[in-house]
Amino acid sequence: MKKCTYCGKEYPDEATVCERDAEPLYDPNAPKPPAKAGVTKKSSASVSLILAGISHLCWLIPMIAGNQVFHVGNQGVAELIPLIGLPLAIVAIVFAVRGFKTKAGLAVAGLIIAILAIMMCVAAIFALPGPLQPMIGM
Ligand SMILES: [Zn+2]
Repeated sequence: MKKCTYCGKEYPDEATVCERDAEPLYDPNAPKPPAKAGVTKKSSASVSLILAGISHLCWLIPMIAGNQVFHVGNQGVAELIPLIGLPLAIVAIVFAVRGFKTKAGLAVAGLIIAILAIMMCVAAIFALPGPLQPMIGM
């Protein structure tokens, strides 16, 4: 048994469209297909969290490892690693906003973690010695 999606008139299984209004028919007993739109929105909030997490690594790792690990010749470049974290955090904010409607909790978490990452990356650029220090006046 099938029903019209528009007027609700019942039809046998072999019918495909409604005779009255030409709307498609559905089987009320069939299992519902998975909601694909929801999956995309959900992953937006998740992607936001992942990107925000990676942008935290961009200040954390150079702060711990320092110029002994990150250097080009004699020039320490640990200070430049947090610069990668800034655009990542901004993209994380974009994904958090996109994922807000369906996964508000995850999206807010992603947003807060991304904003903290921006603050920490900026702080790390100021804190670490390196080629940018003459430009930022320290
Ligand atoms: Zn109909």
